[in-house]
Amino acid sequence: MKEDRQCIFCKIIAREIGSTILYEDNDIIAFNDIAPKAPVHVIIIPKQHIERINDITAETALLVGRLILVAKTLAEKLEIAESGYRLVFNCNQNAGQAVFHIHLHLLGGRLLHWPPG
Ligand code: 5GP
Ligand code: ZN
Repeated sequence: MKEDRQCIFCKIIAREIGSTILYEDNDIIAFNDIAPKAPVHVIIIPKQHIERINDITAETALLVGRLILVAKTLAEKLEIAESGYRLVFNCNQNAGQAVFHIHLHLLGGRLLHWPPG
């Protein structure tokens, strides 16, 4: 598994930084965001260090699709599937990407405004 020793999310995968892990399998891990923007704010990531959505390929697209499947399952478990939720990938500066290891935000538990700021 490719990893980046400097990457915060690779450190979470390696348990070098603590987090509340809600889901894990061989390829994917999901944990609560440290600074939640909604009552439910989960970060879902591949264990493979891919820096940004611009870098995904036909080979990694299936893995990205599986992130969405995990998000859907967690939304059901966390009881926001019916009320609704938002899935977000931020890519690069204008979207405010702060951690350069692709991650899917699962946000819910309150009314989310549209368009986002
Ligand atoms: P981005 O802005 O890159 O799309 O989102 C990065 C997210 O990672 C932010 O919502 C931020 O709160 C979260 N985050 C940053 N550092 C940590 C950390 O050490 N632990 C956890 N659990 N979340 C983090
Ligand atoms: Zn990483």
